[in-house]
Amino acid sequence: MRLFVAMELPEELLEALSETSAALRDSVRGRYVAPDRFHVTLAFLGEVEGSRLPALVEALDEACQYHEPIPLALGELGSFGRRRSAVLWQAVDGGEALPSLAADVRAALRRAGFAFDEKPLVPHVTLMRAADLAGGILPSPALAGGTAGTVTLFSSDLSGAHPVYTPLERFFLG
Ligand code: ATP
Ligand code: MG
Repeated sequence: MRLFVAMELPEELLEALSETSAALRDSVRGRYVAPDRFHVTLAFLGEVEGSRLPALVEALDEACQYHEPIPLALGELGSFGRRRSAVLWQAVDGGEALPSLAADVRAALRRAGFAFDEKPLVPHVTLMRAADLAGGILPSPALAGGTAGTVTLFSSDLSGAHPVYTPLERFFLG
């Protein structure tokens, strides 16, 4: 199964992200991420054998137990990829706590022998894919703050029209 580890977001952030997404609809063409799929990816594992799930859960549990809930603030819009087919996202600032949690999660994965994408963490929430950023003026994003206390192991099913994320296990901080 295709797996990734992410933080689920508090209501205040979800509302502001939905507002940003609605504002983008008027100015940018592309595929919108439905608000019920908003998250901050900490580590992307990709394909993992189902038989390795217990070891994975144990590693994540260990990594999360020393962390407290994290105050998060939404920031500016940013993008990855090509101008006419970009991933468009809103930045998330969690101070030192968020990179520290991600580093511990990644270190635990490494120790337990799980491969993951080693790209440096850029904490963000993806709002659009295949976004056409040529020419358009981006709206100012809605801002909000709130505390996130949940790290979730998700499976991702890309076989349908939209990706389907299923929470397999939740790890509560603090
Ligand atoms: P689609 O791939 O159909 O556009 P998706 O990107 O939402 O859908 P996945 O590819 O399964 O679904 O990705 C799940 C999460 O992991 C998303 O937050 C995605 O941005 C992130 N992700 C995917 N691939 C990588 C990668 N190689 N490195 C880091 N993060 C990734
Ligand atoms: Mg993807």
